[in-house]
Amino acid sequence: MVTMMLETLRNVVQEVNTAEGLADALGIIVRRVRDAMGTEVCSVYLIDETTGRLVFRATEGLNAGQVGLASLAPGEGLVGLVAEREEPVNLENAESHPRFQLLQDLGEESFHAFLGVPIIHQREVLGVLVVQQRERRRFDESEEAFLVTMSAQLAGVIAHARVTGSVAEQLPGVAAAPARVSGIPGAPGVAIGTAVVVSPVADLFTVPRRLVDDRRRELRAFRNALDAVRADIQAVSDNLRGEMSPEDHALFDVYLGILDDSAIGGEVAAMIKAGHWAQGALAAVMIRHIRHFERMEHSYLRERAVDVKDLGTRVLGYLQDADRVQGRDYPEHTVLVGEELTASALGEVPRERLVGLISVRGSGNSHVAILARAMGVPTVMGAVDLPYTRLQDRELIVDGYNGTVHLNPLSEVRARYQALVDQDQALSRDLESLRDLPCETPDGHRIPLWVNTGLMADVTRSLEQGAEGVGLYRTEVPFLLRERFPSEEEQRQIYREQLEAFAPRPVTMRTLDIGGDKALPYFPIQEDNPFLGWRGIRVTLDHPEIFLAQVRAMLKANEGLNNLRIMLPMISHVAELDEAIQLIRRSHREVVQEGVEVALPPVGVMVEVPAAVYQARALARRADFLSVGSNDLTQYLLAVDRNNARVADLYHSFHPAVLRALQDVASAGREAGKPVSICGELAGDPLAAILLLAMGYDVLSMNATSLTRVKKAVRNIGYQRAREVLEDVMTLDHATAVYQYLERVMREHGLQQFLHGAVS
Ligand code: PEP
Ligand code: MG
Repeated sequence: MVTMMLETLRNVVQEVNTAEGLADALGIIVRRVRDAMGTEVCSVYLIDETTGRLVFRATEGLNAGQVGLASLAPGEGLVGLVAEREEPVNLENAESHPRFQLLQDLGEESFHAFLGVPIIHQREVLGVLVVQQRERRRFDESEEAFLVTMSAQLAGVIAHARVTGSVAEQLPGVAAAPARVSGIPGAPGVAIGTAVVVSPVADLFTVPRRLVDDRRRELRAFRNALDAVRADIQAVSDNLRGEMSPEDHALFDVYLGILDDSAIGGEVAAMIKAGHWAQGALAAVMIRHIRHFERMEHSYLRERAVDVKDLGTRVLGYLQDADRVQGRDYPEHTVLVGEELTASALGEVPRERLVGLISVRGSGNSHVAILARAMGVPTVMGAVDLPYTRLQDRELIVDGYNGTVHLNPLSEVRARYQALVDQDQALSRDLESLRDLPCETPDGHRIPLWVNTGLMADVTRSLEQGAEGVGLYRTEVPFLLRERFPSEEEQRQIYREQLEAFAPRPVTMRTLDIGGDKALPYFPIQEDNPFLGWRGIRVTLDHPEIFLAQVRAMLKANEGLNNLRIMLPMISHVAELDEAIQLIRRSHREVVQEGVEVALPPVGVMVEVPAAVYQARALARRADFLSVGSNDLTQYLLAVDRNNARVADLYHSFHPAVLRALQDVASAGREAGKPVSICGELAGDPLAAILLLAMGYDVLSMNATSLTRVKKAVRNIGYQRAREVLEDVMTLDHATAVYQYLERVMREHGLQQFLHGAVS
């Protein structure tokens, strides 16, 4: 029974996943659930986002003519009761229940047994799934459990299909339904622009749909890609000719035959002639054939699906290469959309055209979001329900404050967002005037603001915004953009550029911090639990050759400038710090012997795991400075993966435990007489900056975009006032209470414009 149930569940979910739109998906659900449960009726009611009514959206067994017409007000009838209680309602005889209400013309009169379960996605009730039967009987426990499981599995699919429905090809003259997809705030700000969808390299299943005018060009591109793949296969075939029997070797001909005009090649060409771009046509045809082969009874034929997929992927690879060489035309207001956006995808769009980013995966603490904040591009992460492959050329609104995406917005919604865009632009102009003023409270307490960098582009921006130093240079960024480890000399040049650009201001270079969510393409690390695994200092101490080369490159780059500071990531044992200091001293001796005149730079520790908080005193005694990496520290303290959209609302930077840890580290540094800074994203939040100032942090290091925002907050709130606020906040037990308290303080000081962007 259990395996059968699992099997049925899996089949239904799979089938629903391939549905073309919401109606199609719901049709499959009601049909399959009714069959699986052997009932007479299965229906779905969904809540209409604008009216809040429960609309009869699909049925098997009742009057299908009422689909889309019949509806219940919120809380009305048994279906309303299920939605309201967010619990199943299981009745032997529906009519005898006080909340029973007959909907006209549905044809429910003769059905007595009723089982309704809520459809809930991300805590929101989307609708109700109902089965009914003539016989007066209570559905048994296993039936109820089955329907609940089915509903839980289908909720995500329905949420997705609901949005897909509103972006499906529109009928002429019919206004598209507005849709809102919730994700996670990635970078503050609002943007209205045109979607450009990026797909990962050569993945047939993520190719966006797109219509084109220049069909000939697409056809030519397709033919060229086919020729290239044929040549590749021919080359392999020639190589193996002597080593295979003629019969086996004939398989290559079969393989090549698949691409012929008389077979799949012809179908793709026909779709291109109908106006589809080459990549989209190829993907659609190939996926159809892959599915066809996968369903074959005979295992030999089923295996052919792999061949078709391989061929399709090869052709797609060539098409994508050609596209990259030609370069894309980016619209004036480009919103880049992708399943998992990468730094290099961002890099391809001219900065002046890029207005927004949307990533289906990842969260506000993913590295791409950090990059987006550094660049000041409004971003939504973790928009899991976004049917992103269908959004090419659509107008979208990116709300990076609330983490939402709007499709087909109503005109008043669009106008409201346009007003926000204008307001933000005015705010940036206002903030620009603060650039050269010191970051000082009205009662004379000064706190230097530094920046976090990674790309050369950050440097210019940071200097323009008045940065007083670099608190975190993420050295992994240049490593990520290469195809192999950069040599010592290559590294020296990159580091020299950073150090020179900021000299005489200090530049804190972090040693290579890979692992976790940062994988180098040429140094893959496969682990079940990467954030608890081989990352940061653990990797580089195991590979002293990498560590030593990096430190030597830093020291050499520092010659004649002397503004370098070295910082070590992911320290969780004092022994790691001791060992790293030994290696740094050894590198120093070596470069001095080579004739480089350079002093031993200050060496600091990142406090980003709870163990380092508890050992902050011991670490501070050995190091020259401490710097809190609040992004990771929050993740580890709260046991919430910083990239996981599903638990993102548990990632509270104002969690009292996080605040306590931050305060303890500041005191430990003070006691040891060593400076303490913070370089996590929290430092760039004006609300948090006030608390950090009061805790005694010596430096706040943040992305360039936040500099003037934080400065504005600090210049408006007195140090004494900040101390009082901290004292009050530390008595609160709840992250939300902390946030609300800070919100009041910001309003009191006329700083409400920063609220919608604040981390909560
Ligand atoms: C941190 O963890 O807070 C930090 C600054 O490092 P990263 O975000 O690069 O992991
Ligand atoms: Mg970190």
